Amino acid sequence: MFNALIIRKDAESGTTTAAVEEIADTDLPAGEVTVSVEYSTLNYKDGLCIGPGGGLVRNYPHVPGIDFAGTVEASSDDRYAPGDKVVLTGWRVGEAHWGGHAQKARVKADWLVPLPEGLDTRQAMAVGTAGLTAMLAVMALEAQGIKEGPILVTGAAGGVGSIATALLARLGHEVAAVTGRPEQAEYLTGLGATEIIARDDLAEATRKPLEGERWGGAVDAVAGAMLGRVLKQMRYGASVAAIGLAGGAEIEGALITPFILRGVNLLGIDSVMQPFEARQRAWERIARDLPMDRLEEMVQPATLADLPQLGADILAGRVKGRVVVDVNA
Ligand code: NDP
Repeated sequence: MFNALIIRKDAESGTTTAAVEEIADTDLPAGEVTVSVEYSTLNYKDGLCIGPGGGLVRNYPHVPGIDFAGTVEASSDDRYAPGDKVVLTGWRVGEAHWGGHAQKARVKADWLVPLPEGLDTRQAMAVGTAGLTAMLAVMALEAQGIKEGPILVTGAAGGVGSIATALLARLGHEVAAVTGRPEQAEYLTGLGATEIIARDDLAEATRKPLEGERWGGAVDAVAGAMLGRVLKQMRYGASVAAIGLAGGAEIEGALITPFILRGVNLLGIDSVMQPFEARQRAWERIARDLPMDRLEEMVQPATLADLPQLGADILAGRVKGRVVVDVNA
């Protein structure tokens, strides 16, 4: 038996409820590798799954948690043996398959990555899906060529934004952090941001086809009006790595002009379906380049029982940095 956050749906009313329950190993879904989970995290997608509408959940009852790190308990796949430390992100785990908000998980071997050297399971989850996504975004910007000038990070006090800010600063870039929470300015400066920009100053739509060239690259977690405006302020040939849509599913107010007259690139980043080699490469760079000393400042520790409330908080934009869940606490 083990503890898990279970989301159940009432057949009559259609409402969902999330609560910690004790369940049996035989309830776990099929998969080659059973993992004794040590840490998981709370991401925006988990907020959607835990929330009243059930968000991205495909089948009930459901265990959310889009990432986890732990120790292999049993494996029918040659690549993993009991005792191996592993990390999982993506592959619709926590959405279409039971996830990491539990003391045990059973998944396909293909979805796992061995824990990179230099990281423990708690650090790996302080990084988690948000950190992997931030790393993939930075690697995509590097592949296109980062231009002169500061790099803009939107949704900066959130999970992906916090790690992107710390990572880019550690790599020697000037980082302009956009936040809707002025009270987080000190936190963002502590992560290495050189400039703090108020969300409202940048999210206001303009009818101008182009604005002054400001940013040598950008990591955008927000989309909506913010992304529309940012595109018009990119330097010639610079790239925006679009990772999320916390501010809306559309690009508002954008014109084609930045793409044609300034050769701006809009790069879509998806951490979910990354093949093994790409995920492993990104994790190795995380272990090498991410300032682990700064990671602790971003972490808010949590237990499984805290998740229903924190799920609502992340959807309301009230969570700072990374929520790391000690599933055994
Ligand atoms: P968080 O909730 O931790 O951070 C999002 C941040 O966006 C908030 O902290 C806030 O930052 C800002 N924000 C929230 N609401 C608004 C709004 N209405 N308008 C403008 N800014 C807003 O989420 P994550 O960092 O975990 O994820 C961010 C996005 O990226 C989500 O859409 C998520 O689904 C997506 N994502 C995508 C991945 C991929 O593979 N592409 C992987 C992981 C996440 P502040 O307070 O500083 O303004």
